[in-house]
Amino acid sequence: MKNTRLSLSVRLPAGYLPPRLAAVAAELAERFSLRLYLQAAQDLRVAEICEEDFETVKSILAEAGAEFARKGSFPKPRICSGSRYCRRGQVDTEAFSTALLEHFGDRGVKPKLKLAIAGCPRNCSNPKLADIGIVAGVHGFEVYAGGRAGANPVAGQKIAAGLSQHEVFTLLETLLAFHNGRMEKRVRMYQLIEDEGFPFPVL
Ligand code: SF4
Repeated sequence: MKNTRLSLSVRLPAGYLPPRLAAVAAELAERFSLRLYLQAAQDLRVAEICEEDFETVKSILAEAGAEFARKGSFPKPRICSGSRYCRRGQVDTEAFSTALLEHFGDRGVKPKLKLAIAGCPRNCSNPKLADIGIVAGVHGFEVYAGGRAGANPVAGQKIAAGLSQHEVFTLLETLLAFHNGRMEKRVRMYQLIEDEGFPFPVL
């Protein structure tokens, strides 16, 4: 009978893989014949785990600081290299993402909500294909809403420009409250942007 193989997705905020976690994942991969993938969503997928090894692998990763994706947890933004590693960057996208996750903490959101942050208008992290996209520029941040990837991609629409980081967070408070306040169990931002109650105009 074929053994069931399972996988785990380890959340890596800003796509950063701490050395200890990297070392432990590599050791586990050797020991249990696992495969490690860096995913498009900037997570680490630990794949090919035998069912009987699953809890052991999970607890060793957790001890090394791994955080696993949970339903309804606040989405980790997809980011580009930003000013830390890219000469075009107008902002340190990792620092922005960290501040955003600290600010919104464990706040619950509806499933499938996606956020992305780009360090300049070249949009390498595809912020216009996310429910909420934040783009840094020389004149402050622009915010886009209503994008999605998939078989029928939709480009997000600009709803604010020239914002400071603090103003972006204030805008997100309003936008997320609106999104969370909807009756639907799951609803993407592109389905709401033309709703008469949508809290921001399309620019
Ligand atoms: S979006 Fe801009 S800052 Fe970010 S990686 Fe691309 S070129 Fe660099």
